[in-house]
Amino acid sequence: MELNNDYDVAIIGGGPAGLSAAIYAARGGLKTVLFEKALIGGQIVVTAEVENYPGFEKNVTGFDIIEKMQQQAEKFETDIKLEEVKAIGLEGLCKIIETTKSTYKVQSVIIATGAHPRKLAVPGEEKFTGRGVSYCATCDGALYRDKIVAVVGGGDSAIEEAIFLTKFAKKVYIIHRRDELRAVKIVQDRAFKNEKLEFVLNSVVQAIEGKDFVEKVVIFNKETNDVRELEVNGVFIYVGIIPSSNLVESRVEFDSQGFIITDDSMHTELPGVYAAGDVTKKVLRQVITACSDGATAAFSAEKWIEENKELFCIE
Ligand code: NAP
Repeated sequence: MELNNDYDVAIIGGGPAGLSAAIYAARGGLKTVLFEKALIGGQIVVTAEVENYPGFEKNVTGFDIIEKMQQQAEKFETDIKLEEVKAIGLEGLCKIIETTKSTYKVQSVIIATGAHPRKLAVPGEEKFTGRGVSYCATCDGALYRDKIVAVVGGGDSAIEEAIFLTKFAKKVYIIHRRDELRAVKIVQDRAFKNEKLEFVLNSVVQAIEGKDFVEKVVIFNKETNDVRELEVNGVFIYVGIIPSSNLVESRVEFDSQGFIITDDSMHTELPGVYAAGDVTKKVLRQVITACSDGATAAFSAEKWIEENKELFCIE
């Protein structure tokens, strides 16, 4: 396998945190490589409209924001490689990154691997994924024009995406396990005014059923103990996120849910290893806070490399 020895910093993950880290690291003069296993952008590219990213008073899509971030990272000569990182050796001063295509020796690593949707874990979910069960309204919403769909969850993602789905579907049920939503108030207010939305509260999905495609969800009302069926053509599941932190499992400190714990400099407990964005334990998961983490991680990596440059990669 070819060994590339040329990078100061490797960033793993091409969402807002990783791209911001790349902009700061590369602009700061570090030779920077960013690895992304699938599509550049992470979770935000499947968000139809972003209302709260500063600088865009008119709504902008997640895709547009990412496109600009990528162009900016490339302007400062970040090498963006569409390679999946399979393993990383983080313990020494030399970090070794093994990808599907090559092996790289770098001085510092920024983990910005983000998070992925939590599964509901009910019968029928797996069977009907891609046949009525979806985790991405932006990708699949248009398939449900004049149909009936259910959204499961009560957080920002569930409510925002349910509102988005009303552009296509004739009716959207929001099935939430409590009698109160978790989403921020402005989004809740907008949802309560939307006549195409029907709230099914205090209820959990027990099963998703159908023949070839989804035809109904079976729901259990926790207050009344009633079980009933809702006829739907699709089910969109937004019940939270799980950190994509396996690459560093048991080597850096995690919280109880698997989010990486860093200090204020985004430093993990391993020298020269930083984490940024949704993969970290944090109070607010937004594009702006991911960008902030990425910038801080790159700044910290730059300082760490400068302070340790005499010691690097001594075999
Ligand atoms: P979230 O805020 O963790 O909400 C998950 C929702 O799913 C909660 O309502 C939760 O119910 C419910 N849930 C969890 N497990 C469940 C289960 N097994 N069965 C049924 N329901 C279940 O996740 P999110 O909405 O994906 O958001 C993730 C992060 O991104 C959050 O920090 C959010 O604020 C942020 N975000 C921000 C924006 C924005 O600012 N525009 C947009 C999207 C996401 P409970 O409420 O009962 O716990």
